Amino acid sequence: MKALALLGSTGSIGKNVLAVARQFPDRFRVVGLSAGSNVELLAAQVMEFKPECVAIGNPDLVPLLAERLPSSYRARIVAGVEGNCQVASLPAADMVITAVVGSVGLLPALAAIRAGKDIGLANKETLVMAGRLIMEAVREHQVRLLPIDSEHSAIFQALEAGRREDVARIILTASGGPFRTWTPEALAAAVPDEALAHPNWTMGRKISIDSATLMNKGLEVIEARWLFDVSPEQIEVVVHPQSIVHSLVEYRDGSVVAQLGIPDMRIPIAYALSYPQRLDLGLSRLSLAGCGELAFEQPDHDRFPALGMAYAALNMGGVKPAALNAANEVAVQAFLDRRIGFTRIAAVVATAMRETAQGNERELEAILGADREARLVAEQAIRAA
Ligand code: MG
Repeated sequence: MKALALLGSTGSIGKNVLAVARQFPDRFRVVGLSAGSNVELLAAQVMEFKPECVAIGNPDLVPLLAERLPSSYRARIVAGVEGNCQVASLPAADMVITAVVGSVGLLPALAAIRAGKDIGLANKETLVMAGRLIMEAVREHQVRLLPIDSEHSAIFQALEAGRREDVARIILTASGGPFRTWTPEALAAAVPDEALAHPNWTMGRKISIDSATLMNKGLEVIEARWLFDVSPEQIEVVVHPQSIVHSLVEYRDGSVVAQLGIPDMRIPIAYALSYPQRLDLGLSRLSLAGCGELAFEQPDHDRFPALGMAYAALNMGGVKPAALNAANEVAVQAFLDRRIGFTRIAAVVATAMRETAQGNERELEAILGADREARLVAEQAIRAA
């Protein structure tokens, strides 16, 4: 029986993690849950899974959550980032699944690693902001960091086919998002509802916008660099609109090993939860003949500059990836609030990359400082537009 603490339980990934836990009650029990502000769903999850500790992001919502739970049931309720860190380091937890969105995932992930927990990582921003720091902590505390991001799960699986020293390249696939075929003029006029309509995956709002700009793939390049200890030049991105080939590893002899499957997040989630075992999830099987054609094409860097900016941040090193990530979070929110147009998202991020100070990526304070500074610069750029 594996005891799970799940951060971000009411989001798209969180709900799928609980679906897997629900399906295999003999394998998994849930000892901790956390959510941002969705009290209704969190309360229902607490009633179903009976964790010993539950965190709500917004401290003002603690009374409301307590009210929703029966007096006979005594879960410890905690709040804020501190509360997330408490759930992440619960003594009873064997594994912490971090499925929160954005930079708020960093401190709880560090807390979990320092408490000796294995990590199931869906929050890619943790590695984008602090990849070196996190991977050093993983080594120091001898925990396992298992990817849940579907591309990284695919790479992780393809890496089982050979030796690390024989890896030539990692090839990340990208669906291309809902705007893959749009003209520059149409992109400039795109509205949030159009960007939120992803063709293959059902995802949260932030990652859906990131998929539309290709920033999601840029963040995944940075994530892959740290997870698999490869150089940026060894990571290639190819657009694959059908989302059937989830990513590939090329070995030095020219062999390319891919992982394929239907686009369902329960597959990478279950693999991280039960590694190295595989669970029968009862999902529909991939029918290759049913897929018809699988297409692959180069990403268009002119229409989707965010991808190249992520490579640039990685090459600049230091705290620039943290600045990129923070500015992107602010710009995506501004787009969702209809304060800026779609193509301004990348422009705001570019401004923040240029106008923020460099810093030491080994220092948590420098990373958090870069995050704060980039948010201010991005907000100024949005106001000035
Ligand atoms: Mg992904």
